[in-house]
Amino acid sequence: MSFSELGLSPKVLAAVEASGYTTPTPIQAAAIPHVLARRDVLGIAQTGTGKTASFTLPMLTRLESGRARARMPRTLILEPTRELAAQVEESFQKYGQNHKLSMALLIGGVSFGDQDAKLSRGVDVLIATPGRLLDHSERGKLLLTGIEILVIDEADRMLDMGFIPDIERICKLIPGSRQTLFFSATMPPEIQRLTDQFLRDPERIEV
Ligand code: AMP
Repeated sequence: MSFSELGLSPKVLAAVEASGYTTPTPIQAAAIPHVLARRDVLGIAQTGTGKTASFTLPMLTRLESGRARARMPRTLILEPTRELAAQVEESFQKYGQNHKLSMALLIGGVSFGDQDAKLSRGVDVLIATPGRLLDHSERGKLLLTGIEILVIDEADRMLDMGFIPDIERICKLIPGSRQTLFFSATMPPEIQRLTDQFLRDPERIEV
């Protein structure tokens, strides 16, 4: 299996090549075609499996058509910690090096002003921790009604950190027509319940 067989765009393939990757990891080979086909995905995978590229690469391909409007991000990636959110932003920058995409990171400990300014210019990729995202949404600075793709990453860590009620609130603010990509290393009952509630006929991938 090679990256060129997965349906990714030429710009994304060029960035993959520049990263020095020759072969997709199992989760990448399994997930990328389904993300491109707009299916919901339930990925049961640890970090270190290449999970981040399994959603960033096809999302970049999908984002090549359409454009962002003020205060209405097109995609949202939820991460449990600031560090993970920053790492995902780096991945989007690396793999999106041939794209002209706008990105914003909404994490605690950063001033609202800068984050607001970015949101008002329109954002293709919004990466956030749940609490800070809800703060912006409640202040009326952010509309989640234009989200095309929602990624919930590291769901079992979200559970450990008490973020499940926040995740449920966020999911209810996003239209049901969205595509949802959900990743967790383990599937405890609380996480299973969340996937039953918020995923639609997901493709289940376990690596
Ligand atoms: P992740 O599981 O997303 O945290 O990725 C783990 C590490 O694997 C990261 O440092 C990536 O740069 C690297 N990586 C991801 N996909 C590939 C690939 N197909 N070939 C080689 N390295 C990769």
